[in-house]
Amino acid sequence: MRYIRAFRDGSAARGLAQALAQQVERQREYHLMEFCGGHTHAIFRYGVEDLLPANVRLVHGPGCPVCVLAIPRLDAVIELARQPGVTLVSYGDMLRVPGSRRRSLLKARARGADVRMVYSALEALEIAAAHPERQVVFFAIGFETTTPATAHLILEAQRRGLANLSVYCNHVLTPAAIQSILDSPEVREWGQIRVDGFIGPSHVSAVIGSRPYEFFAEEYQRPVVIAGFEPLDVLQAILMLVQQLNSGRACVENEFTRGVTREGNRKAQALVAEVFELRPSFEWRGLGELPYSGLRIKSAYADFDAERRFALQSQPVLENKACQCPAIIRGVKKPTDCALFAGPCTPHNPIGSCMVSAEGACAAYYKYRRGAVRAAG
Ligand code: SF4
Repeated sequence: MRYIRAFRDGSAARGLAQALAQQVERQREYHLMEFCGGHTHAIFRYGVEDLLPANVRLVHGPGCPVCVLAIPRLDAVIELARQPGVTLVSYGDMLRVPGSRRRSLLKARARGADVRMVYSALEALEIAAAHPERQVVFFAIGFETTTPATAHLILEAQRRGLANLSVYCNHVLTPAAIQSILDSPEVREWGQIRVDGFIGPSHVSAVIGSRPYEFFAEEYQRPVVIAGFEPLDVLQAILMLVQQLNSGRACVENEFTRGVTREGNRKAQALVAEVFELRPSFEWRGLGELPYSGLRIKSAYADFDAERRFALQSQPVLENKACQCPAIIRGVKKPTDCALFAGPCTPHNPIGSCMVSAEGACAAYYKYRRGAVRAAG
């Protein structure tokens, strides 16, 4: 805690804010996307935006794993959970995410489905070992941070001969999402999104390293600064981005040197490469079908693939038109642009996925900005 406190120091934050105020060029605007929901949460929790000059704008990105899961895939797992003999295991946030027709895993559990919340993928192993008569399915979601743990789960299940365990794989890749934002800044129904630079996620980068972002910096001439999740990390990253933009540079810089290297965690990368392969295409909520943006289980581990074992199919669904999650995930709209925000839609009664997880932009706004929004109204 002492170690973390140094990265929340108020006087250091004011010093960084002063440095920013001195360095921004008055006549230009800086639109910086924090890719990850963890950064969005930190920005609101510590009031980082209040310290920024008016011409530095933060755009919230799609890096919330719960928010980007396509509803048809959620519907498929809710159906699976309702099958007799199936025990569905998942991280807590996923249980509350509304699928189509306001269904959720939590509601399925209330109706008798065996749905269990875990903090670690490996807990699924113990559940499967303790209940050999049941089919235990781990609902795997997340970016590169959580993928190695799922790979380890599958390898351990194989080693222990747990034939009743399988994984419904929904792991996605950060670079593909960044590329989609850069490739299609114009979305017909929402308009244009401007992103001059990216604050990169440190936990993802601890696994994949900083090297994968070099492509965006070079090809798209957008600077990237990888940052930790404390307020001083974020402020320092914003300052570094402003400095790059002022000097016309576009390269990858690493603010989070205490955890991220250029090469990343080779051991974790090897685990992922052993078990998973790229899907040719994967559907994201808000971003649509993105080529080579998701992972699936290799055929060598097909016995542990819930999609094959249960022949899971995703059916297209119509989204609730009033919910602006797809536009918010893309960074085109803010939660306060949604007519349902803080009215019908609250963390206790979420209508869209962005209101569920602490990393969702709507949940962050609701928790830390609701008062200010009301006062402004
Ligand atoms: S406030 Fe609720 S309904 Fe509106 S965009 Fe956010 S999650 Fe969707």
